[in-house]
Amino acid sequence: MSFQTDLLNHIPIDPLTGAIAVPIYQTSTFVQEAPGVNKGYDYSRTNNPTREVLENLCAKLENGAGGFAFSSGMAAIDAVVKLLSSGDEIIAVADIYGGAYRLFEKVYSKFGIKTHYVDTSDLTQVEKAITSRTKLFWIETPTNPTLKITDLRALSQIAKEHNILLCVDNTFATPVSQRPLDLGADLVVHSVTKYLAGHSDVIAGLVVAKTEELAQEIRFYQNACGAVLGPFDSFLTVRGIETLQYRYQAHCDHAQKIAEFLEGHELVRRVYYPGLPSHPGYGLAGQQQKYAGAIISFDLHEDRSENALAIIRHLKQFKLAESLGGIKSLVSLPCEMSHKTLPECQRQQSGISDSLIRLSVGLEDVQDLIRDLEQALEYGQSVAPDREQPLEQAPDAATAPFPNAPVQLRESCC
Ligand code: PLP
Repeated sequence: MSFQTDLLNHIPIDPLTGAIAVPIYQTSTFVQEAPGVNKGYDYSRTNNPTREVLENLCAKLENGAGGFAFSSGMAAIDAVVKLLSSGDEIIAVADIYGGAYRLFEKVYSKFGIKTHYVDTSDLTQVEKAITSRTKLFWIETPTNPTLKITDLRALSQIAKEHNILLCVDNTFATPVSQRPLDLGADLVVHSVTKYLAGHSDVIAGLVVAKTEELAQEIRFYQNACGAVLGPFDSFLTVRGIETLQYRYQAHCDHAQKIAEFLEGHELVRRVYYPGLPSHPGYGLAGQQQKYAGAIISFDLHEDRSENALAIIRHLKQFKLAESLGGIKSLVSLPCEMSHKTLPECQRQQSGISDSLIRLSVGLEDVQDLIRDLEQALEYGQSVAPDREQPLEQAPDAATAPFPNAPVQLRESCC
């Protein structure tokens, strides 16, 4: 049976009413017949029928023993780190998502959990960083924003030899393209906010555990700490997942065409996209991913690098915003936005230059997207860099719904 049919079959028809769409059980508690005697639900932090449909669906998608839905991707990451104890160490991918970096460095370091950051696309660097205290490998593949690829099969071998848990943030690839648990990982997390929900209308996170034992532990922390996903957002996410495969395929198809266009443009120094043979991870991505993904980063030739802002400002179809994975195309400047919290040296080492532009390719007509990039690059080629205002004073701030609200691009990390 195909992935899509199997997935749709996994969304149950409501046994009470026959409703074909998932009912939203917007309730905090459930009436009991006698103390402790209930219909399988007693309190919605612990379990809720709408969330349960989503969690079972996600366990199925990632082929794990249990899925757990959280109120954000960060809450999902937080639940995994709670498996560790003071004195334990993490080895994390160097160009890690800025929010995860902040969590590891500003929260968990206080509790005695230390993180080492290495380029995990080079496994010798990972092996060198292992100590007797290493308990968790934290991997994003492809990474954000330079789309580096880590060999999950090989890394899972190393993890097993050293009794280290391997957790993969699969937000960029999605289970349509890559299934880390099948490649040897122990845990998968998602910012469901992105492709899984897919319409830029939900903040949500997910953990899927490979074994029942790990699932029990995550279930415990989900309930004990309480950052659960509400019923309505669970419903929206199930609805998003129903079309995930078709959306993701189209996102990737558009991205491939755009990456090829950008690679041929004279203003562009380098395009980062694992679907291009010029990308160092091209071969490996082809082995462990079904699709190359829909995030593209590119930077400009040095003499034009200051024109990144001019280009971003001139795009019309790609909206300047945090986030990715929704049906509408977005553009961002990682050094000022998603990766602002990374130290400058770590950003430079990871190839996140000040002119690196990241695109989240959406589902507008791809020719319109290419034309939009064409006109913005043309403008970027002609304009003098010093004519541009800093990004914080984007002209559309004046016409935004709350024109007097302070624009805080530099503070954000998303
Ligand atoms: N992981 C990745 C790769 C992300 O890009 C993000 C957010 O951008 C997160 C985790 C955090 O997810 P959320 O914003 O849903 O908390």
